[in-house]
Amino acid sequence: MTAQKAYDSDVKIKEDKAPLTASQDSFSELWNSLKSTFPKLFGEATYKSWLSPLAFKEFSGGRFVIAAPTAFMRDWVSTNCSKKILELLQSLNPIVLQLDIVVDKALKIEKIAATTPNGAGAMLSSPSIEDEVIGSRLEPRYVFENFVVGQSNELAHAAALRVAESSQVHFNPLFIYGGVGLGKTHLMHAIAWHIKTCHPKRRVVYLSAEKFMYQFIRALRFKDMVSFKEKFRSVDVLMIDDFQFISGKESTQEEFFHTFNALVDQNHQVIISADKSPTDLPGLEERMRSRLGWGLVADIHPTTYELRLGILQSKTEQLKANIPVSVLEFLAHKIASNIRELEGALNRIVAHASLVGGSITVESTQQVLRDILRANDRRVTIDEIQRKVAEHYHIKVSDMHSAKRTRTIARPRQVAMYLSKALTEASLPEIGRKFGGRDHATVMHAVKKVKELMQEERSFGEDVDLLQKMLQS
Ligand code: ADP
Ligand code: MG
Repeated sequence: MTAQKAYDSDVKIKEDKAPLTASQDSFSELWNSLKSTFPKLFGEATYKSWLSPLAFKEFSGGRFVIAAPTAFMRDWVSTNCSKKILELLQSLNPIVLQLDIVVDKALKIEKIAATTPNGAGAMLSSPSIEDEVIGSRLEPRYVFENFVVGQSNELAHAAALRVAESSQVHFNPLFIYGGVGLGKTHLMHAIAWHIKTCHPKRRVVYLSAEKFMYQFIRALRFKDMVSFKEKFRSVDVLMIDDFQFISGKESTQEEFFHTFNALVDQNHQVIISADKSPTDLPGLEERMRSRLGWGLVADIHPTTYELRLGILQSKTEQLKANIPVSVLEFLAHKIASNIRELEGALNRIVAHASLVGGSITVESTQQVLRDILRANDRRVTIDEIQRKVAEHYHIKVSDMHSAKRTRTIARPRQVAMYLSKALTEASLPEIGRKFGGRDHATVMHAVKKVKELMQEERSFGEDVDLLQKMLQS
């Protein structure tokens, strides 16, 4: 029997045990066996603090319902773990469509582990109440020790370390930017952990731009602006994650601008992350944009193969999992999109192997990760399409979004819309939005027009085919 066959028959047995009509008991069992893998998957500290109190509630109509003892825990788990948990449940039983977390006050909460990720004592588990309220919870895994450095992130890492280690302010703000899943949040948390551990007196507040806005709006509603301002302006280090969320939100931006200036004037450190650089972030006021560029702007580039392999090796060691190098190389080669997805893939094969048994091979990996691998195979983004098409027809990328209707610009734009439809999963309205906010009818028209022209004009048809091939390779 080949490895592949052995694997298939394992899956069969599993499915026989949990057919579509499975009882609540079998889902409860599924939950318990999955939960037993959590300490390995999420780390002991996270497990103890957040996951161990979770309990199975029920399964009905595709909804897998689990309960947490408090709303705070529920929110934390849904932000930080629910996606991964759902993925795991689905890989074990595809009839699970959705994961819901409800609050059940009867559940017991274990005492939150009183150690820090790097063993620095109890102080981190009891941050001042105020920091806890205005800031967000820090993920214990996101420390410098767990951050693998490579060419693509070395500048951001060095800058983060410098800010974390130094008690003086060298650059203000530190602005870290890069694509999704490349380690911005990890670095932000690492800075916060480091400062909290080495300089417990310094007040560090970390939160997402979304949460900042939420608190700002609440303060407005409850006429509590004075204490809002006081809270944020009295911290030593303010860290705002996913700053792009604020763009276009004028009054929040305005308030942040004042907070920012107040902190910088007092020589307090501000650290910001975003998905784009200050110059490229849309919807920012000019004064905000220029102020953001005053300090150090550090970017994180897409990963290289070496970095991906390094991260996989380090994760494998943390998980104490036994995975052949060939499988790690296979993953590093195939999943180039981002690190979050790479980690997700690794967790999935480890969970699968520990639940259904069997060793991990390239074949079993291919099988378990079918969906992820397929998505990575033909993942072309609309941005990429716009860039390639603009380059091909010698027009500016910005013309893809502009209102210009001259033929030399409108035709390439239609080609890019056609290719976006053909090569991505995006819907017509989504594509329209990416092309300067056009509506779905415009996109539909473009797709039809290009198809017709490809039939009518041979050279045009060949051109578009060539572009398509280039984008797919
Ligand atoms: P972003 O905030 O840029 O979207 P995250 O910081 O959330 O990305 O990173 C996504 C996942 O990848 C996290 O689990 C993080 O720990 C992991 N990760 C990112 N970069 C690295 C790295 N250099 N070394 C180890 N893990 C990393
Ligand atoms: Mg992030």
